[in-house]
Amino acid sequence: MSSTNTTAVHGGRGPDEPTGAVSTPIYKTSTYRFESTEALLEGARGKKPGFYTRYGGPNFSVVEQKHALLHGAQDSVLFGSGMAAVAAVFQTWAKAGERVVAFRDVYGGTRDLLAFLHRQIGLETTWVTTGDLVALEIALPGARLFWAESPTNPLLHVLDLPAIGAITKRHGVPFVLDATFAGPALQQPLALGVDLVMESATKSLGGHSDLLAGLVCGPAERVAELRLTRKLLGAISDPETAWLLERSMKTVGARTERQAATALELAQRLAHDKRVARVLHPMLAKHPDHEVAKRTGLKGVGLVTFGCAGGLHAARHLADHVRLIANAPSLGGVESLLSLPVYTSHAMFTPEERAAAGITDDLVRVSVGLEDVEDLWKDLEHALRA
Ligand SMILES: *Cc1c(COP(=O)(O)O)cnc(C)c1O
Repeated sequence: MSSTNTTAVHGGRGPDEPTGAVSTPIYKTSTYRFESTEALLEGARGKKPGFYTRYGGPNFSVVEQKHALLHGAQDSVLFGSGMAAVAAVFQTWAKAGERVVAFRDVYGGTRDLLAFLHRQIGLETTWVTTGDLVALEIALPGARLFWAESPTNPLLHVLDLPAIGAITKRHGVPFVLDATFAGPALQQPLALGVDLVMESATKSLGGHSDLLAGLVCGPAERVAELRLTRKLLGAISDPETAWLLERSMKTVGARTERQAATALELAQRLAHDKRVARVLHPMLAKHPDHEVAKRTGLKGVGLVTFGCAGGLHAARHLADHVRLIANAPSLGGVESLLSLPVYTSHAMFTPEERAAAGITDDLVRVSVGLEDVEDLWKDLEHALRA
């Protein structure tokens, strides 16, 4: 863990470069030339870093190696988006008519994908209340995989990964975690009993709100299966995006640790503000999962969610009056963004479903960027006052 930043910078070097270039060149090619049929046959068996770009290539390999090293995984595979990665996981291990288990608090796209797969191929999903280990134990027998997210959106619940991992292991069901909200510098899920880690690299790994990508890391055999799915579905990224992602990943520790520190500072200030009804941040002692967060080595999270004392009206008012913080979906970028879950992640829920999920109308989620904390506070203060 202590060498995360060194690994982020140096982990996963590209092929030896005759010019000595420090940065990986972009292999902007769709195919590779071979000296002989023998060499081509070797290339087809994966002996060379490049063959045909839908299969992979040097820019993808560097990102994948870096990601695997950052998470202590055997291997990792890069996709064209986070959703391409999520879809590949289900398509690889869940067949028509089979069943998977998931905690309820997952990304809207994942929920929609599982509904789509139910309509298309009759894939069943057993939805379990997030963190309910008794219900999980009952749901697991016969399931093909278990999917969960931690920390969750937008309430920032933190799962007891070791306890869940022990249960899934006992039932022989692979545990796949969407770890987009924390990332490798803030938590190491594979060391806590998770089998595979998925991240939307569009968020913290990319970190500059300028690319789409997804990654899944874990045991080499499983990652190889995912790589075959990627090849068949053509769900790969492109060399230029992979290069941009490699560059961004070098600073993932520096960025996310700083963002987490700023988010905590804002959370503490918001917690003392009369205009704020409640603040949700797992590093605050008051958060219901604070103990779990500490026990599972979560170093922080670069988001803070809070409820406005004036309800939906006040939340909308705040969203319309911030100047520095942008009113935009997404998270993990250098620029701070704000969104109201009632209109974004949970817009498709009925009011009853939102109530059951704990998503009140007064909630505001802030993805904290790299601006100075005083400027962000001034912006929130001004918008709260307005
Ligand atoms: C954004 C996001 C995804 C989907 O990633 P895309 O890159 O947008 O396809 C999946 N899970 C979580 C938690 C996300 O925030």
